[in-house]
Amino acid sequence: MLKSTIRKSEWQAIYRLLDRVSPVDYDCGGLCGCACCITEGEAEMGIYLLPGEDKLHSRRDEWLDWSDERAEDYEFPESWRGVVHFVKCKTPPHCPREKRPLQCRTFPLTPHLNEDDELSLVYNDLELPYDCPLIDEEIPLEDRFVQATYTAWKHLIRDPLIYDLVKMDSEAREASVAELAELLGV
Ligand code: SF4
Ligand code: SF4
Repeated sequence: MLKSTIRKSEWQAIYRLLDRVSPVDYDCGGLCGCACCITEGEAEMGIYLLPGEDKLHSRRDEWLDWSDERAEDYEFPESWRGVVHFVKCKTPPHCPREKRPLQCRTFPLTPHLNEDDELSLVYNDLELPYDCPLIDEEIPLEDRFVQATYTAWKHLIRDPLIYDLVKMDSEAREASVAELAELLGV
């Protein structure tokens, strides 16, 4: 199990904060057939729980399939050593809303740390097996959602392992932007 410095009560507070907001003020699942919940075809979409997030979930939860993997076998930071919990909801797009994992709550935004370790939020830029209209059409997101998501990540990155994950992804993002700029000669 990955060591977590975030207490269960803090995880609960983060979930509650994000329970109160949505990316847009309507059900964006209507735009895309709930693409981020329902995967068709070969892509296997599991959601990994962040270190310590498992304090809010149980293997006995009937709506989730669990699997445990070794962090070392995936592209996680060097500091991640031990078991990472992957979960998969059994009846997407339906789930107990108050139990959704963090990744479902903050999508389509993702945290970014610049060279000075200043946190910002960017659209998810990982390769996805589906199109998200909120990202593709740059649909403005609710301020309350953006603020709550920022607050949540600001707290989460106090955990060294979560910080390492966000930093690793941010450095990869900065490197690919720099590479693109060089290619374009800008
Ligand atoms: S977040 Fe994007 S992919 Fe997910 S339901 Fe909303 S519009 Fe669709
Ligand atoms: S847990 Fe809920 S929100 Fe997340 S992918 Fe499953 S059905 Fe969608």
